[in-house]
Amino acid sequence: MRLKVAVRALCDFTARRGDLDHRFTPSPTASEGIAGHELIAERRRAADAAFETEVALEGEYVDATGQVLCVSGRADGVDSTQGRVEEVKTHRGDLARMADNQRALHWAQLFVYGALLCRARGLERLTLSLVYLELGSGRETRLDETRTAVELEAIFKEHCARYMAWAKQEGLHREGRDAALRQLGFPFAAFRTGQRPLAEAVYKAASTSRGLLLQAPTGIGKTLGTLFPMLTAMPRQGLDRLFFLTMKTPGRRLALDALARLGDTLEPQGEAPALRVLELVAREKACEYPGTACHGDACPLASGFYDRLPAARHAAVERGRLDRAALREVALAHQVCPYYLGQELARWCDVVVGDVNHYFDVHALLHALTQAHDWRVGVLVDEAHNLIDRARGMYSAELDQRRLAGLRRQAPPALAKPLARLGRQWAALGDHEGDKKGDKKGDNQGNKAGGQSGRDVEYQVLSVPPGGMLRALGQAATAITDYLAEHPGEVDPALQEFLFEALAFTRLAEAFDDHSLFELTRSGRGRALLALRNLIPAPFLAPRFAASHSAVLFSATLSPGDYFRDLLGLPAQTPCLEVASPFAGEQLEVRIRRDISTRYAHRQASIEPIVATLAEQFQRAPGNYLAFFSSFAYLEAVVARFGEAHGEIPVWRQERGMDETARDAFLARFVAGGQGIGFAVLGGAFAEGIDLPGDRLIGAFIATLGLPPVGARQETLRERLEARFGRGFDYAYQYPGLNKVVQAAGRVIRTPEDRGVVVLMDDRFARPEVRALLPGWWRLP
Ligand code: SF4
Repeated sequence: MRLKVAVRALCDFTARRGDLDHRFTPSPTASEGIAGHELIAERRRAADAAFETEVALEGEYVDATGQVLCVSGRADGVDSTQGRVEEVKTHRGDLARMADNQRALHWAQLFVYGALLCRARGLERLTLSLVYLELGSGRETRLDETRTAVELEAIFKEHCARYMAWAKQEGLHREGRDAALRQLGFPFAAFRTGQRPLAEAVYKAASTSRGLLLQAPTGIGKTLGTLFPMLTAMPRQGLDRLFFLTMKTPGRRLALDALARLGDTLEPQGEAPALRVLELVAREKACEYPGTACHGDACPLASGFYDRLPAARHAAVERGRLDRAALREVALAHQVCPYYLGQELARWCDVVVGDVNHYFDVHALLHALTQAHDWRVGVLVDEAHNLIDRARGMYSAELDQRRLAGLRRQAPPALAKPLARLGRQWAALGDHEGDKKGDKKGDNQGNKAGGQSGRDVEYQVLSVPPGGMLRALGQAATAITDYLAEHPGEVDPALQEFLFEALAFTRLAEAFDDHSLFELTRSGRGRALLALRNLIPAPFLAPRFAASHSAVLFSATLSPGDYFRDLLGLPAQTPCLEVASPFAGEQLEVRIRRDISTRYAHRQASIEPIVATLAEQFQRAPGNYLAFFSSFAYLEAVVARFGEAHGEIPVWRQERGMDETARDAFLARFVAGGQGIGFAVLGGAFAEGIDLPGDRLIGAFIATLGLPPVGARQETLRERLEARFGRGFDYAYQYPGLNKVVQAAGRVIRTPEDRGVVVLMDDRFARPEVRALLPGWWRLP
């Protein structure tokens, strides 16, 4: 086996020492870094035409067992006349603030390049120059060291030997993992109904390097049914990693349990499990010292992090199954930060269970690692019907005018001018008639965007990007960055936070196209919110799918396939498979109340018949029910009337902004054999992802088609979707609405033994195009 490693990856593994240091240091962007390297190269060539740049170097290390490690990379500059090699790094501000582990890494890279250069050119001695370019001033700081070829060779061998021990262990793990997975058997005596075709489809997708949309009902065992075939395909398709991504944290437990069950069937490698599984946890949940800065002076788990990392990393991979609790245990046993240990282990685990953000977000760790290491990855996305909205959020950004005003009052004088310029641009925003289209009202569109319920809200979609504002924002961001670099002692959280928001906004603005819109929501003088709202995430997600070997998206509601393919950026040929439901039509009585209209104009008139329907069904079959409405206002109106008319029937209701305890209390009312009606909002916390089997829930009333409210934003979305896909109404209103209806109705039948009723209360449910979107196994009247 011949191992290969890049100089950077080699040193990243072996050279970091000392503290973790994630103090805010304004760091150059990738494009600034490239520009900085080009600047130095130009300067050198101008001074000496023979100066070489980007010099490719390669060398081998052979250990005592004959194992070969091939190390390669490009040195930034070589001056043959002077016998000098250069490594260039860009930075902002005071060089003394650069973290020690960063500096150690830079020197290590330079020493390795030096060793490779001495070998390649037969040199006996070399000057090593570490060149730091300060981007604000263009000033260079050069640090020189002179070493003999013998010394450099010894350093090179030391790095290689340390890396080799780990790489060999990793190679053996990979061989053992793949051998074990070739023997992987299904951990139960039989597949559940529908689970086998589901597993076969996933295996075929992985084997043909394609994506797959998989619609399969609850109760079929989707988690195990997708993990099992993807793991089976891993050794056969040479997959390096598998990512299981969820929308919410509770979904992870199912995946971790299924992976544990599958892992139990695999032959262990000595003491270690054959399959390493990691749960990636958000920083807020993993941090042991909330509110503390992540550097050695402030947090004990950051102090000496890199010194203790090798032992922690070793212990973690030996343990192999690293859910949040196990990872924490290993981290604390070695006194390192659990969050950053998890980030490190994402490089070394076979299966990572995390949030969709970890692969699809702008700066997603798992996607970055996939690119950097050229991994072949399998991606499984649970509850994938939510990915459109989640991705829209990932590629949207907001700026609050009041926040800018607050910042201007307390900002240092040096920033007064750029912030004032930004303030002026902001105030003028949307003043030109030609720049806007929108409406002035206190509707839920404006309220939603501005969070100013009851206030007169003006909402505008800007028809052209606000160029002046964006320029001023970019200038303000540069000024703040330079200021923070020059005044490292003055860490102002508000200034930093604004800078992060400004940078995120300007980066998304650079990618602005007809997939997004600029919207301005004003709720009074000086109270404006400028948002860059993504409408069609496809252009951002398509490269993420293309970077995977195979991505399987699954959910109980994932049709029509075109809708998801188009909006998510999946290739047009991505198949959409609907797995037959294990439930029979006779399990669910579906009724449609054609005499009720829940349209906004008819709401008042609909209250009485809805109340009568609920009471009549409850009296016919007492038990636990859920009733869904399009808004809290509608819900409250029906609850109030229901209480007056039928005070004897127990009711409980969803409130705005319920916390976890309140949500648990709501669900706790659904006891087996209980009686009452829970009132909830469609698309909210109780309309999907909750499991109330048996007689914990025997019926659902749905008094809405789930259509998003008509407003300027929604209408713009419809227009854009019409222009791009020719399906404006379907894609903006009908499909997302019906998707929510089917999710909510799906709470009733959870097992083949369940029986129940769904009452759809609106005449539009009888329309053929709406009926076509309801599950095929339902018996519609
Ligand atoms: S424990 Fe918390 S404060 Fe300390 S390094 Fe980790 S995330 Fe940062």
